[in-house]
Amino acid sequence: MSMSVPFMDLRPGIASLRGEFMTAFEKVLDSAAFAGGPWVEIFEHEFAEFCEAEHVVAVGSGTEALWLTLLALGIGPEDEVITVPNTFIATAEAISFAGARPVFVDVDPNTFTMNPACIEAAITPRTKAILPVHLYGQPADMDAINAVAARHGLLVVEDACQAHGARYRGRAVGALSQAACFSFYPGKNLGGFGESGAVVTQDGALAETLRNLRDHGQRAKHDHRILGWNSRMDAMQAVVLSAKLKHLREWTERRREIAALYHEMLAGMPFIKLPGEADYAAHVYHLFVVRVRHRPGFMQSLESGGVQSGVHYPRPIHLQGAYKQLGYGPGSFPRAEMCARQVVSLPMYPELTEAHIRYVADAIEEYGLLAAASVEEHKGTFAWLSPEPLAESLT
Ligand SMILES: *Cc1c(COP(=O)(O)O)cnc(C)c1O
Repeated sequence: MSMSVPFMDLRPGIASLRGEFMTAFEKVLDSAAFAGGPWVEIFEHEFAEFCEAEHVVAVGSGTEALWLTLLALGIGPEDEVITVPNTFIATAEAISFAGARPVFVDVDPNTFTMNPACIEAAITPRTKAILPVHLYGQPADMDAINAVAARHGLLVVEDACQAHGARYRGRAVGALSQAACFSFYPGKNLGGFGESGAVVTQDGALAETLRNLRDHGQRAKHDHRILGWNSRMDAMQAVVLSAKLKHLREWTERRREIAALYHEMLAGMPFIKLPGEADYAAHVYHLFVVRVRHRPGFMQSLESGGVQSGVHYPRPIHLQGAYKQLGYGPGSFPRAEMCARQVVSLPMYPELTEAHIRYVADAIEEYGLLAAASVEEHKGTFAWLSPEPLAESLT
């Protein structure tokens, strides 16, 4: 039976809550409070409770959450912030637009997150903060990162834009550092119907500074003591997020079940490396990312079987044109570069059925059989199935 499995589909999730959304929109219309205001405050309280944190400041996007947090922490020109090259470019952009310089360190290819053992060598007298990314929904190794930060008197800010509800040694992401930044872009695990984001922190003074920064530096109406920006969340997003937040735990459980099914069905295939869940982590599987040796052939084969996949991210940030001036080159971060060549994101969203997952697994198995047969047939000609030098292994 032929099927088509999209990489992600937001429509079934929207359809299931349509009535709730419509009721919420009418409440916003009746109140005529659209930018910031009471609906946003309600969501901030609910999200703080969800993250087991004291304060939530809602802002215009995940990118602005990161940028304003760095500004609020006093990071600026002459400063360096340590982060990873295998992330969405917004992580580095936020550092640059605060006026500081991103300094990259390599990652652990099994968890895809910052390798704490690489941090110390990147610290200079200008280093002010470490910005780990909870990539694909798995927390970085926060105890190890916080220990390095404490030894050197550095701040830590989490990029939690892909990790709503993830846990680290039983603690919720968002309460593991000075501040954690979230995105509610539509495709994220908790996504609105447009752009928004939030900063989560235990630090009341930091939250107050962020409230000023997101509203033109106003402490009270027309009292601008610092320069700020317009980064208010709008009420239409807040009510969508409040409605969806009630279901987030159940959707996360479903993502974890889907990941377990993938693991079960794809076990024992030598050409594919499945994502590991670290012993400290409760992964929320924003993305289910595998590594393969010959990505173009793998993706083409899935595509021709009706299975859509994605790549997050094909080019690490240190090799992007926008960051040429930092002076990195190919080989600067071998593990991140290997991941960039090998990663494939398989279909992942809570409404995927077991039949969908079985279909994806069958398509992958079929690719494996064809690839093995073609290697046998063209021994020596198709060297691509043998490990490339950098990818010393998929393990
Ligand atoms: C989505 C994302 C961002 C940016 O969030 P926006 O809301 O799109 O601005 C930052 N970092 C990571 C890791 C992301 O996935």
